[in-house]
Amino acid sequence: MRYVVIGNGVAGVTAVQILAKEKNTESTITQFSDEPFGYYNRPKIPAFVGNNEVSVEETITYGMDWYKTIAVDLHMQEKVERIDTVKQELETKEATYPFDRLLIATGADCWCPPIEGRELKHFYAMRNLSDALKIRKRFKTSNKTVIIGGGVLGLEMANAAINQKQKTTVVEFAPYLLPRQLDQEGSNVLQRILETKGMEILVGKEVQRITGEKEVSQVITKDGIEIPAEIVIACTGITPRVNLVKDILEVNRGIIVNDFMETSSEDIFAAGDCAEHKGIVYGLIPPSMQQARIAAHNMIRKDLEYHGSKFAATLKVTDLFLSSFGYMGQEHDLGYEMRKYINDEEYVKLFIHKDKIKAAIILGVRKAIPIVRNLFTQEKSVSENEKKIREVLPDLS
Ligand SMILES: Cc1cc2nc3c(=O)[nH]c(=O)nc-3n(C[C@H](O)[C@H](O)[C@H](O)COP(=O)(O)OP(=O)(O)OC[C@H]3O[C@@H](n4cnc5c(N)ncnc54)[C@H](O)[C@@H]3O)c2cc1C
Repeated sequence: MRYVVIGNGVAGVTAVQILAKEKNTESTITQFSDEPFGYYNRPKIPAFVGNNEVSVEETITYGMDWYKTIAVDLHMQEKVERIDTVKQELETKEATYPFDRLLIATGADCWCPPIEGRELKHFYAMRNLSDALKIRKRFKTSNKTVIIGGGVLGLEMANAAINQKQKTTVVEFAPYLLPRQLDQEGSNVLQRILETKGMEILVGKEVQRITGEKEVSQVITKDGIEIPAEIVIACTGITPRVNLVKDILEVNRGIIVNDFMETSSEDIFAAGDCAEHKGIVYGLIPPSMQQARIAAHNMIRKDLEYHGSKFAATLKVTDLFLSSFGYMGQEHDLGYEMRKYINDEEYVKLFIHKDKIKAAIILGVRKAIPIVRNLFTQEKSVSENEKKIREVLPDLS
């Protein structure tokens, strides 16, 4: 069997590990990456951008030796340009490669709204380590940063900019920060904390234009606010990378997969940010890993099913502890029991249904995060764990 994996992000790298473990000795694994680095963990990027002492080498988890150890033939900086599903082969600029089973793990690009002025120098759409290197270099001479997007990545990049002594403004289109992870009340607490760290935050504002001669110099919102900028970073969401397969596989927002992580073409699987399962593109590390494990296993022996993942996100901003579990914004309407408490620096909400935590927001109470995460992911009984919850959240009503 010739197993081929396109992509070397967390989905690709998880898949080759499983393939290497489960395949027979005669089978081969070939992997393609259009990036110039071995595997690195994207969540480490904001910290890398914010700290000039962290080297590229420290950020890379697996160098070339690692791939050799598990007998994976990694083709770095070799982009797959075309797939022929009938002949079962793929093409890069260098050569044509046959496959028996193929995994598409091409991830996603930063989705950027059609803002005028995106072509100006020092505008960056944040996705990979190459973007991070350019941004960190720019911080050496810039002083004013505008971040478009007040989601998790936008706020982590804003924190990186603050650490690099930038005057930093975050512009968020939604009426409050982290609209996918928080409600308005929790977001207000978060916003106050971030403002004390020096971030300027504008919510409910749409960026209309970026102006400047050759370089960015100003960000202008639809209602006419002018924000001086020497660097503009878009953290405005993702768009799955499906161009390679959009004419040969069934694609909606992402590549449509069934419960075996199979695409519409036999012997071709997909996992990670490029894949859409039951209408959902997760855009997160844990689901990408779960999907990749199942896809890789099924490439060898098709007997594992994927039944979706739980949403969980953690904001990594210095001295600020925020995790959101399963919160999708509609929990209030689902008839779930709600337990909460709020003060100037802390905000906690648990949504409980049939004695299980269905969603939770924990802001500022660090020690509660692992306990709530465990109850949520393992679907443990709340009543049986009441004592543990009380120990970390004594003020919960
Ligand atoms: C800065 C940043 C921070 C993040 N932080 C978190 C976090 O804290 N927690 C969390 O859960 N998620 C986080 N995410 C999201 C998370 O990183 C993604 O969900 C995850 O990387 C998806 O993995 P993937 O392997 O599907 O795709 P990717 O990581 O995007 O990897 C896909 C790879 O395939 C390559 N590729 C694409 N097309 C081709 C081709 N034709 N030929 C060859 N190679 C190709 C791409 O260049 C890329 O290297 C973050 C994302 C970013 C950008």
